[in-house]
Amino acid sequence: MYRPIVEVALPVPLRRRFDYLWLTTAEVQPSPGMRVIVPFGSRQLIGVILQVKDTSEWDRAKLKAVRECLDETPVLNEEQRTLLHWASGYYQHPIGEVFSTALPAKLRKGDTNTRPSITYWKLTELGEQTEVSSLKRAPKQQQVLLALQKGATTELQLREQFNTAVLKQLGKKALIESEDIIPKPNTQWQSQLSIGDKPFASPAQAVIISAIKQQLSQFSVSLIEGVTGSGKTEVYLQAIEPVLSAGRQVLVMVPEIGLTPQTVSRFQDRFQIEVGVLHSGMTDNERLSVWQRAQNGELGLIIGTRSSVFTAFNGLGMIIIDEEHDSSYKQNDTFRYHARDLAIMRAKQENIPLLLGSATPSLESLHNALSKRYQHYQLHERAGNAVKANYHVLDLRQQPLQFGLAPETIKQMLHHLQQGNQVLVFLNRRGYAPALICHDCGHVETCRHCERPYTVHRQSQQLHCHHCGHHRYLPNQCQDCQSHDISPQGMGTEQLEQGLQTLFPQYSSVRIDSDTMRGKQNLNQTLESIHSGKHQLLLGTQILAKGHHFPNVTLVVVVDIDSALFSADFRGAEQLAQLITQIAGRAGRASKPGTVWLQSHHPGHPLIEDLIHNGYAHFSRLLLMERQYASLPPFSYQALLRAEAKHAEDAYSFLQAQLAPLRQTHGVIAIGPVPAILEKRQGRYRFQLVVQSPSRANLHAAIHHTLPVIESHTLAAKVRWSLDVDPQEFY
Ligand code: ADP
Ligand code: ZN
Ligand code: ZN
Repeated sequence: MYRPIVEVALPVPLRRRFDYLWLTTAEVQPSPGMRVIVPFGSRQLIGVILQVKDTSEWDRAKLKAVRECLDETPVLNEEQRTLLHWASGYYQHPIGEVFSTALPAKLRKGDTNTRPSITYWKLTELGEQTEVSSLKRAPKQQQVLLALQKGATTELQLREQFNTAVLKQLGKKALIESEDIIPKPNTQWQSQLSIGDKPFASPAQAVIISAIKQQLSQFSVSLIEGVTGSGKTEVYLQAIEPVLSAGRQVLVMVPEIGLTPQTVSRFQDRFQIEVGVLHSGMTDNERLSVWQRAQNGELGLIIGTRSSVFTAFNGLGMIIIDEEHDSSYKQNDTFRYHARDLAIMRAKQENIPLLLGSATPSLESLHNALSKRYQHYQLHERAGNAVKANYHVLDLRQQPLQFGLAPETIKQMLHHLQQGNQVLVFLNRRGYAPALICHDCGHVETCRHCERPYTVHRQSQQLHCHHCGHHRYLPNQCQDCQSHDISPQGMGTEQLEQGLQTLFPQYSSVRIDSDTMRGKQNLNQTLESIHSGKHQLLLGTQILAKGHHFPNVTLVVVVDIDSALFSADFRGAEQLAQLITQIAGRAGRASKPGTVWLQSHHPGHPLIEDLIHNGYAHFSRLLLMERQYASLPPFSYQALLRAEAKHAEDAYSFLQAQLAPLRQTHGVIAIGPVPAILEKRQGRYRFQLVVQSPSRANLHAAIHHTLPVIESHTLAAKVRWSLDVDPQEFY
């Protein structure tokens, strides 16, 4: 008997595919994109069929057989599979892990992809002929018959009035029968979309909207560079109108923390359709349901974070990436993809337009826009009558500080508070203090796994290592000399919060950082209480910089810009400028003008000077020139090979061994191995090797032929290594 062979992607960290014989008993024909359960060593794994074929490079007689097929139709369609194949090649990541990342957890674990059926009850022929009055002695049964005479009814509805026993009794008498029906997807939005109130587009917005509308039927990438509040979202809303009207779906991607009920309701109100939301805080069931309803066309609009780029659609018409510079689009472990770059590839494959929007575009996107690979649009003015923020740099040198704040800063804060406005204080360091120091011997309490100082957390009475998560009880004496004279040094948000309460006792403050904001719900509630004016002082870390609008904030204080100014990472200046500009954008959104106070020991620093006088648009173009002179991305391409091991020499010599094969390709340089910025973490020494080339093709060729060398190296089993293509962080 003929048995086809299926090539399967399995969730294992091996760069290969696996062949299996198809089931003899299977009722369905195998097809790429279906899930199967297969034996793998002593385990069983769930994989996805990549290809169906007649022959294998392995001996057919030795092939094992598929145990079970989980689907009747593919869970991943052809477009999705093409994207994943591309991603596996581009990021040089094992195909099985790529496929499993793309699937919702429930499907990864083997749940069914068919939607749950609904049980309906209706009258049988006998039931239709039966006089209701003949059931005189059973009033409940009579009522059911009467109800069903009007037509079939769902069990759920019937159970509101009747218990299941009544239904069973009538079923036994063969008067009624049930039927399980899988509901047809409700795709009404495709034929009758209603559009809510909308403002007239400003002339600048109108130009962009009409340009985008003229190229809806083909691939293009447009970068909308517009200051915060300049009306980018309004451009998205008007640009997707014809897409949805034509019955095609739209994917809107937002940063992890920018996804708020306000964002969702803005889209919902405009189109009066249900919006599918995808983010990491949802249950597996919720995610699966949204995935399925996007797949069958029920949902026209999906708003989601990073992994929503993998959503199944049945007629995607446009992709929008808001705050495209945001670092949360990059996944920094296992399959290290950049959702923006994957989305661009997806748009290209599906031949649809993609919009990138940001007040502070990444230098990568800006470079593509300036060199005309992308369409480029700018919105210079804030929409409505909001005005731009004013910057002040406050010289911290020789100032007496209270909780890190200079007297002039405190005076300003009080002034704004007294006028009934809100003040936002930004400090990118959570916890109480970044170190615990002994006054007698100078000993600093240090995490022995990472050799970095512990952060003091007062509230929980603990020392926390922010690098590996290790924590222990806050000691009351020095671990070295037993002195009791130990004290926290430096300041984190927890301490500043106490400080604000001391300095401004008559005003209420709220702290927003990852310690106080566990869970989405919490953040949304806090944002609401800020909007309602319950708090006047808002204090937080970079969570505050992302996409939230605080119309009553008129003063923003950045407590310490110096630590970011002297960063070891070449993207440090870009990130600092994005952060300052984004935070400044939170202020003065309504008609109230905003002021930004930057505290620094280096008030004349050229970076800061340029940023505050000329704005991010100017500053970022200067940075781009610097990158060009230094041949750094986006003027070259990089990959980062990381290795960590218990013994430093192992990690080092493992990377050292890759230098020769990497350098064989023309135009490829390899820099390192050097210790990582965080030299030790969780008891392992970390080294890295930067591979760089002005040619993306050459870089990829070099990695491609080095990978087998890496994988077969004698230390490969002892060393934890990873490859990061287009790395964003060098920590
Ligand atoms: P961005 O996405 O660039 O931050 P938004 O689209 O959110 O900007 O616009 C900022 C504010 O201006 C919002 O309150 C929005 O409703 C309003 N707005 C945007 N465009 C217009 C317009 N053409 N007419 C009137 N108000 C507008
Ligand atoms: Zn001591
Ligand atoms: Zn640690």
